[in-house]
Amino acid sequence: MSLRHIYLDNNSTTPCDPRVVEAMLPYFYDKPGNAASRNHPFGWVAEEGVDFAREQVADLINVDTKEIIFTSGATEADNLALKGVFEMYSRKGNHIITLDTEHKAVLDSCKKIEKMGGQVTYLSVKRDGIVDLNALENAITDKTILISVMWANNETGVIQPMKEIGDICAKHGVLFMSDATQAVGKIPVDPKAVGVHLMAFTAHKMYGPKGVGALFVNRKNPRVKVTAQMDGGGHERGMRSGTLNVPGIVGFGKAAAIAKKEMAQDMKRLSRLRDKLESALVESLEEVYINGSTEHRMPNVTNLSFKHVEGEGLMMTFNQEIAVSSGSACTSASLEPSYVLMALGLGDDLAHSSIRFSLGRFSTEEEVDYAIEAMKKGVNHMRDLSPIWEMYKDGVDLESVEWSEH
Ligand SMILES: *Cc1c(COP(=O)(O)O)cnc(C)c1O
Repeated sequence: MSLRHIYLDNNSTTPCDPRVVEAMLPYFYDKPGNAASRNHPFGWVAEEGVDFAREQVADLINVDTKEIIFTSGATEADNLALKGVFEMYSRKGNHIITLDTEHKAVLDSCKKIEKMGGQVTYLSVKRDGIVDLNALENAITDKTILISVMWANNETGVIQPMKEIGDICAKHGVLFMSDATQAVGKIPVDPKAVGVHLMAFTAHKMYGPKGVGALFVNRKNPRVKVTAQMDGGGHERGMRSGTLNVPGIVGFGKAAAIAKKEMAQDMKRLSRLRDKLESALVESLEEVYINGSTEHRMPNVTNLSFKHVEGEGLMMTFNQEIAVSSGSACTSASLEPSYVLMALGLGDDLAHSSIRFSLGRFSTEEEVDYAIEAMKKGVNHMRDLSPIWEMYKDGVDLESVEWSEH
């Protein structure tokens, strides 16, 4: 990638690895069959492609091929897991526990479940973004059927204590679901080893194509079932109807196989680059804060707040050259501070002044060096123009200033 376009937004989506594209190509024209066509070779060839990919995906997370349900992505997998469990286990209870910092695909599914008569507890997290295990255990009631905790957060990269949560779920006989979209393919993820029964993930966050994902559903001890949310031809063991996206699934499989082979070296290289970026900015600029745990964190992510600098404005100083994300979300009416950062206890201002850098397999040292210089220049430029920064430098106690209101 040219220096003019540096992509440090891999948590939004990753480029598709060229080896993945190559594996997919035959399935668009030479092998055009429907994997459900049982009575001619076109169907068999397509099915073989899907079977092989299912093995590759299952192998990456150490589960059985029968436990993989292909979907259109992690959003659909989250919906299927949450709503599917809620419907299937309604006789057992109606209570679900999740976190404030989950992805919208989980939070909005939970909101829908509340409208359907469910009860949902949204736990707050500690300052480092990690769940309080005592609060989690105390939230369990005799109506609790499911606990849903993401493996790694998309904004901060913070990794939750999966084994400890799995133990609590096992102790209370509650199902454990995880949105592991940001973790799978980037760090070792073994749901059975930590007691996860349902797990959502997606190809396009691990160098595969967009529009294909999977839900892992545990089949033994316990045998977990979900009510289908899509009615039709009964594909995917009846849990997800719809013609399989054969090229997409083949690409997902290839991405999984590459991840399995190259994960260890990618992790090592990316954590070094991430640390270089992070420490260069923290050391050379004043008032830079790291958001979320630095101990339990994805190797490719850093989320930084640059005090008294508005993140969206800062991004405009370099977004022709460097792609990152800010801690503000554009809603129809206004710029809202990230609910994830607010849940960590940041104020509005620090949340608005945050930038997420997410590195990926194709990030280079040269790009990171360039980004460091561009960030320093941008932050200094913004602060030079800022009367608030000037007051801060003059030692004015900003908390005590009475701003005139209009
Ligand atoms: C990207 C993402 C999703 C959504 O995945 P899609 O495949 O785009 O639907 C869900 N959860 C997390 C944590 C994500 O980062």
